[in-house]
Amino acid sequence: MTVRDIRIYGDPVLRAVAEKVNNIDGTLVGIVNDMIDTLRASSNGIGLAANQIGVDKQIFIYSLDEEGTPKVVINPVITESDGEWVYDEGCLSVPGLHWQIVRPKLVNRRGVDLNGNDIEVEADELFGRLIQHELDHLNGKLLLEYLDDEQVKEAKRAMRELIDQRKSGTGVPPL
Ligand code: ZN
Repeated sequence: MTVRDIRIYGDPVLRAVAEKVNNIDGTLVGIVNDMIDTLRASSNGIGLAANQIGVDKQIFIYSLDEEGTPKVVINPVITESDGEWVYDEGCLSVPGLHWQIVRPKLVNRRGVDLNGNDIEVEADELFGRLIQHELDHLNGKLLLEYLDDEQVKEAKRAMRELIDQRKSGTGVPPL
């Protein structure tokens, strides 16, 4: 079991557009297993994109119920979106903060599973939100892009404090 460090806002890997996966091999399965361990070890995370553990690949995993094994999506694309939905959205890479963000309510998503099968799903509300959030990660976007200047300042301040605390080994335990 390898729980990796989750990269925090400010890390350049979170701004990079992840590379398409061409080959589902043992290395890729290893990365996915690390992602699953990392998500499970996180406090209440329901989704994780590969670049959040520093891997520049188009993969995300999610788990909408705590019991089951997280699902794996490779090379995801949103083919359709519809409606509008407000949700109090947070991110493991911006720990401890969340904001009311409006996005489409429903999306249609295509992608490939770990066996190489094409999977298409229609996702509503929280599931739809999760997919949009993870796809943003893989395109180098964070939820901060949906905020106003004041909220971005607040997030930057909080993340600087968190990083300082981690460096000095004081303060709250790392999330
Ligand atoms: Zn996130």
